[in-house]
Amino acid sequence: MRTNEDIITLTERYSAHNYHPLPVVIARGQGVWVTDTEGNRYMDMLSAYSAMSHGHSHPELIAALVEQAARVAVTSRAFHNDQLGPFARELTELCGMDMMLPMNTGAEAVETAIKAARKWGYRVKGVPRHQAEIIVCQDNFHGRTTTVISFSTEPLYRDDFGPFTPGFKVVPYGDIDALEAAITPNTVAFLVEPIQGEAGVVVPPDGYLRKARDLCDRHRVLLVVDEIQTGLGRTGKMFAHQHEGVTVDLMTLGKALGGGLLPVSAVVGSAEVLGLFTPGEHGSTFGGNPLACAVGRKALEVLVRDDLAGRAGELGRYFMARLREIDSPHVDHVRGKGLLIGIVLHPSAGGARRFCEALMDEGILCKETHEDVIRFAPPLIVTRGEIDRVVEKARQVLRAV
Ligand SMILES: *Cc1c(COP(=O)(O)O)cnc(C)c1O
Repeated sequence: MRTNEDIITLTERYSAHNYHPLPVVIARGQGVWVTDTEGNRYMDMLSAYSAMSHGHSHPELIAALVEQAARVAVTSRAFHNDQLGPFARELTELCGMDMMLPMNTGAEAVETAIKAARKWGYRVKGVPRHQAEIIVCQDNFHGRTTTVISFSTEPLYRDDFGPFTPGFKVVPYGDIDALEAAITPNTVAFLVEPIQGEAGVVVPPDGYLRKARDLCDRHRVLLVVDEIQTGLGRTGKMFAHQHEGVTVDLMTLGKALGGGLLPVSAVVGSAEVLGLFTPGEHGSTFGGNPLACAVGRKALEVLVRDDLAGRAGELGRYFMARLREIDSPHVDHVRGKGLLIGIVLHPSAGGARRFCEALMDEGILCKETHEDVIRFAPPLIVTRGEIDRVVEKARQVLRAV
């Protein structure tokens, strides 16, 4: 069992085919670089959908993980542990919010935000029992649980998985009039991604979140932003909604919160909302475990100390400008913010997949997003020289293939 091909055969034989990975088998990672089972090296331009913002095998994060694992890893919330309190405070202060609720995966954080918003609707806003409505956006991505896919607009994510959870209304992304028209007295929240990552790095019009904030204030609706992919420095600010200078009522975080080592997620928000939970109403066996909290604390410390957000902003502008210089008949435009970048191809290009395969052969790993977008989301520790190398390979592939 040595070669890439052997491993792929095993994986295909014994694990369900719910993904369509590129045919590379990663065996090691260091910073921006990964190595396959046969010793070939690649640059990771996806960073596990932004979970790997700190880079692979970050030495300080590994040290925090190992040190905590050797002390105590999992306690459940039946008891206190000495890491959750400090993590909760550090995360909450970084967000400028009142409190947090720890979970593990992103989808669980979204589920938690939905439950919190509904509870606030009944207990504070006075919405009649089980009538709460949450407005979401077309082409959203908030995870894969049954409730979350209930308000997806992607048939691939929904077909065969009904019946669906009611209580959601979908409006076009970026359309503030549609949002206003959808609000009723029973609306408790507007759940939105500041930039739609999985939809293909879709950046809404300037002012969208500011206007959404105004509408939410006027109609007493919670503004809930899903920063699982865009948060923690990815777009050039600590949180992407800060580009618009707005405050939010709830924010979901995940992915990079685990430093690329563990699933760590959270909902962070106001005491008016998160303070409504009482013991037993919601929980998670692993949520807030000391190992996750210790790694999360170190992940936040490194993020702030090394100004990874500032880096993402500066290098993102450079990366995007360089990609826009590429003269290829296949490229429609380049869009994004910070180090969350999409190359949008013309419909005639024949899809993004074949370019990602060609880039893989050139030692660059990235993934098509939907049919026509090549996404670049490197670890935030990437260097200018490494970006230059990626741009050269992208130019080569986009002109030749
Ligand atoms: C990845 C993602 C999720 C889901 O996170 P999981 O950890 O895969 O459950 C939710 N929302 C957004 C915006 C994401 O990018």
